[in-house]
Amino acid sequence: EKSAPRNFIQQIIDADRAAGKNGGRVHTRFPPEPNGYLHIGHAKSICLNFGLAKEYGGKFNLRFDDTNPAKEEQEYVDSIVDDVNWLIAGFGETEGFRVQGSENSSPAPRTPNAEPSLLNPEPFFASDYFDQLYAWATQLIKGGKAYVCDLTAEQMREYRGTLTAPGKDSPNRNRTIAENLELFAQMRDGKFADGSRTLRAKIDMASPNVNMRDPVLYRIKRAHHHRTGDKWCIYPSYDYTHGQSDSIEGITHSICTLEFENHRPLYDWFCRELGIHHPQQIEFARLNLTYAVMSKRKLLQLVQEKHVAGWDDPRMLTIRGLRRRGYTPEAMRAFCERIGVAKFNSTIDMAWLEDAIREDLNERAPRGMGVLRPLKVVLANLKEGETIELDAPNHPQQPEMGSRKIPLTREIFIEQEDFMEDAPKKFFRLKPAGEVRLRCAGIIKCDEVVKDAAGKVTELRCTFDPDHSRKVKGTIHWVSAPLALTAEVRLYDHLFGVENPDNAPEGKTFLDNLNPNSLEVVTDAKLEPSLKDASAGTSFQFERSGYFFVDPLDSKPGRPVFNRTATLRDSWTK
Ligand code: ATP
Ligand code: MG
Ligand code: MG
Repeated sequence: EKSAPRNFIQQIIDADRAAGKNGGRVHTRFPPEPNGYLHIGHAKSICLNFGLAKEYGGKFNLRFDDTNPAKEEQEYVDSIVDDVNWLIAGFGETEGFRVQGSENSSPAPRTPNAEPSLLNPEPFFASDYFDQLYAWATQLIKGGKAYVCDLTAEQMREYRGTLTAPGKDSPNRNRTIAENLELFAQMRDGKFADGSRTLRAKIDMASPNVNMRDPVLYRIKRAHHHRTGDKWCIYPSYDYTHGQSDSIEGITHSICTLEFENHRPLYDWFCRELGIHHPQQIEFARLNLTYAVMSKRKLLQLVQEKHVAGWDDPRMLTIRGLRRRGYTPEAMRAFCERIGVAKFNSTIDMAWLEDAIREDLNERAPRGMGVLRPLKVVLANLKEGETIELDAPNHPQQPEMGSRKIPLTREIFIEQEDFMEDAPKKFFRLKPAGEVRLRCAGIIKCDEVVKDAAGKVTELRCTFDPDHSRKVKGTIHWVSAPLALTAEVRLYDHLFGVENPDNAPEGKTFLDNLNPNSLEVVTDAKLEPSLKDASAGTSFQFERSGYFFVDPLDSKPGRPVFNRTATLRDSWTK
């Protein structure tokens, strides 16, 4: 096994283990907020956290950071569990997390007394810690470390100061402990209007780090929570919840993206002041990709305004979308491994993602032939009604994948662009009086070009020669015209037409950078007949044109619909 250089997070963990920190334990987590579907950036975080737990024989938690009831929904919880399970299958993990309250998406029950597992099958929810968080807030008040503040949100912003100017103390900062305890209990009991009071930590209004200027721990908000219902009308802030949730779960390394670097002093402050298990927060650079937007808010906007068909539109870089596009968990994992983890933000070329799926499917996708834009060719020396059964290997390098029969008939289809009337010298496909090889069949020579009144080529008349041994430069794909399966094939391009869609000129938004040609639906592609029985959710390489995935939602028995996952790197030289 090759020994890759240790990334900076592995180096931190190696050192912690060498020093005996946490008894050598490694326990990571992935903490999504259930306010949208997961995207490829989340996949990076899952692969990183899950990969570390697996590598060190540790544990991995899935925890929902569900502290903002206004934006969170059960639908998102379910989809996240399903996507995480799908992704960790790429690590060879066959058992995943259970979706609560949903029988059919539950993984197989665990074997009792099995080896302690990498993951706890029940996902965690920050909302399950609301009672504990409340008790801890009371503890902070009793220690003189938190107070109830009556400033409005707007006043609080004013008092907060700026990066260059210190903030001002709240007029309520010196309330007595007894008064704070009483007011906080009244906040919980619904005695005050939404937004009228907050509970704040008493840290330092002059701190150079704005996050340390008496941050808000609790807000009053009457909102129905997808799990706790109407039990609470105060909700804890992200900062107050996150580290303590890590602590409760015994997380050792709390890995997050760089925006949280300035929150780390606060993370540490809470654990220290409360005297609880203190995980180590480590920040890494978030994934950015060319031709993509990655924020959930923007992805939601694309869905709500119907710029795409849904969260699972194959052009979306959601895990859902990529799954429907035909990506495999193994390819996603390979991609995440290859891009590595860094301490500085950068943008990864989308081509890396496409390479990862090509490499995976090149190994395992059976081959087939499909003509997207058909041109009829008559093989004049074959008899009408005659069918020649040819044998075609399902994979050129993997004989164990077997072979299939392909029928050759007098009339076939080839790709329109594989014929050129006035062809340049280097054009090694079909031209008048030229020869080309038909994959798996033989060689054809173009004797006659038939055109319609407008001069458009409608048909070629050729002679077929079954002799394979002659040397002919080009090879093209084809299908039998009378026996072909006519199918819908969807061709995708980048959803955005520019490398950095977030970078929109004055008065424009990322939506103005949408690529109007990101989807092309070919309704009458001609496919070799064996593809009629292609099962939903499987992948094929159509020779010379790319990798295609049988759409799991729109395909019907005997009527598959194909989504192009990726083109081949270099289709002409094949
Ligand atoms: P977004 O900014 O897209 O809305 P988020 O960070 O608000 O994402 P969360 O649900 O809070 O979404 O994210 C869960 C975890 O995934 C966090 O630990 C976060 O750091 C990580 N994560 C989110 N986006 C990326 C990304 N682009 N690259 C790597 N990790 C990410
Ligand atoms: Mg977040
Ligand atoms: Mg966000």
